[in-house]
Amino acid sequence: MAKLTDEQLSQLKTKLQQRYLELREEVRDELKRSGDERYVDLAGSVADMLLDINAAIVDRQVNEMREVEATLKRLAELNFGDCIDCGGEIGFDRLMAYPTAQRCVRCQSLHEKTYSHEPNPSL
Ligand SMILES: [Zn+2]
Repeated sequence: MAKLTDEQLSQLKTKLQQRYLELREEVRDELKRSGDERYVDLAGSVADMLLDINAAIVDRQVNEMREVEATLKRLAELNFGDCIDCGGEIGFDRLMAYPTAQRCVRCQSLHEKTYSHEPNPSL
């Protein structure tokens, strides 16, 4: 089990919340740029406002927002900070750099190799 202190958890929480707001701003900017003003003034959650737009332009942000939301929920769980593959610690430094990380560095690179659509030419 990862040994994150309450202090570290609250730092991560703050970071995730900031990231969420940044992403929400990015989505709004994208929508403004694309001329889709209809959705810009809505005070409701982005998830709602994206329900019926063709959201290809904001896909990346929306996906990341979902990850951030899921990570915020996981913060409360005892095994938060454990790698979902090997169960080892992801590490606080890595989490601060990538708050939505679910794997330790080793498992992540393994995962990316396994699921990469671009074959590694050096193999
Ligand atoms: Zn791992």
